[in-house]
Amino acid sequence: MNPQLTNVAVLGSTGSIGRNALEVIAASGNRLQATVLSAYSNVELLLEQALRYRPRFVVAVDPAAAGKVDWSALPKDCTLLTGSAALAEVVRHAEVDVVLTAIVGSAGLAGTWAAIEAGKTIALANKETLVMAGPLATTLAKERGVAILPVDSEHSAIFQALQAGRRSELRRIILTASGGPFRNYTPEQLAAVTVADALAHPTWNMGRKITIDSATMMNKALEIIEARWLFDLKPDEISVVVHPQSIVHSMVEWVDGSVIAQLSPPDMKLPIQYALTYPERVPGPAARMDWSQTQRLEFFPADFQRFPALELGLEAARAGGTTGAVLNAANEAAVAQFLAGEIPFTDIVPACRAVLAQHNFEPQPTLERLIALDAWARQEISTWICH
Ligand code: NAD
Ligand code: MG
Repeated sequence: MNPQLTNVAVLGSTGSIGRNALEVIAASGNRLQATVLSAYSNVELLLEQALRYRPRFVVAVDPAAAGKVDWSALPKDCTLLTGSAALAEVVRHAEVDVVLTAIVGSAGLAGTWAAIEAGKTIALANKETLVMAGPLATTLAKERGVAILPVDSEHSAIFQALQAGRRSELRRIILTASGGPFRNYTPEQLAAVTVADALAHPTWNMGRKITIDSATMMNKALEIIEARWLFDLKPDEISVVVHPQSIVHSMVEWVDGSVIAQLSPPDMKLPIQYALTYPERVPGPAARMDWSQTQRLEFFPADFQRFPALELGLEAARAGGTTGAVLNAANEAAVAQFLAGEIPFTDIVPACRAVLAQHNFEPQPTLERLIALDAWARQEISTWICH
C-alpha cells in the first residue's frame, strides 16, 4: 500500500479534460491512480483507456453505446456498469478519494452532487454545476466538509493567487479571457461566422461546447458565476480583461493595489494536476514557459457591446436563484442548435436573454426545481428558434 496514493474517479474520461487528466495520472508515478473511468458514447476509447489504466470500475453511461463493444477483454478485477445512475453509485465507493468532474454541461451535475454528498474531494471541471446550483452545492460542500478544488484554469489561477494575502485584504479578482477567435470581428463579420470558424480556437484545444462558449464569450459569463460561488465573492468584486496570449490565467488585486497573477502556457494539465495533488506541487507533464524566447503579454478591456454574453453573466451572478440554471440550459440548447446549423452564431446570446426574460424567478429554488427549469429552458429555446 502506498500511503501517498490518491484514487481518482474520472467522470468524462474520454473528453478533452478527461484525456489530459489521464496523461497527468500516467506521469505521476505511483501517486495518482484512475479508479473509475466513465464516458457517454465513445465506448471504444473507454475500453482502450480501461485496458491501459486498469481502473476498478468503468461506466458506460449510454446503455445503447455500451452494447457496441466487446468488454470481455476487461481485466477480471474491473467492473463494467452502465446507465447514468451508475455514476452516482460509483463515486461513493470507499476506494475513491477524489472525483474529477469532467462531464460537459448540466449532465455533470448529478455525479458532482453525489460525490459531494459522499464527502469526496471534488476536482471541478464541470463549471455548469456551480452555474446551475452554486449556492446549494457550496452549502452542501460546507456541511460535508468537502473541498471543491477548481480545474478551470482561471479559477485555479485565482485559487493559487489568493494564497498571497488575507481574505479581508482582497479588492477584486480579474478573470482573463482569450477573447476567442472573433475578438476583433465587427458585428457584420460576427453575423456571418460558420460552425468551423467558431470551432477554431486560437489558444486552447477543448471540447466543442466550451469552444463555442469561448467564441460567444458565454464561457467567461459562466466563469463569472462559477467564481462568484466558488470564492464567495460579490459580483462587483469580479472583473474581466481580454488577454489573447492565454498565459496569465487570472489575477487577484489586493486593497493596496498589488496584483498577483498566475502564469503558464495554455495547457490544462497544470490546473488538473494542481487540483489532484493539492496542497502539494509535484513535477508533471504540463508545458512550461520558455523564458529564452521573447514573450508578449497584452491586456485589453472586454467589449460588452460586441459580446453581450458578458452582461448576462454579471446579471446572473447578481440575481442568483434560478437565473444561472436557466441561462446555462438555454445556452446549452442554443449552442447545440448552432452546431446543428439551425441558428446563426449571433442568435445564441439573444435566445438566452429571451428565455431568461420569460422565466419566473425564484430566489431560493430546490435542486429538483433547478432540474425542472433546466428542461423548461431547453423547451423554450426550441420555441424561440421556431419563431
Ligand atoms: P468534452 O466534450 O471534450 O468531453 C465531455 C465528456 O463528458 C466526455 O467524456 C463525454 O463522454 C462525457 N459526457 C457527455 N455527455 C454526457 C452525459 N450526458 N452523461 C455522461 N457523460 C457525458 O468536454 P471538455 O471540453 O472536456 O469539458 C468538460 C468540462 O470541463 C466542461 O464542463 C467544461 O466547461 C469544463 N472545462 C473544460 C476545459 C477544456 O480545456 N476542455 C477547460 C475548463 C473547463
Ligand atoms: Mg476557463
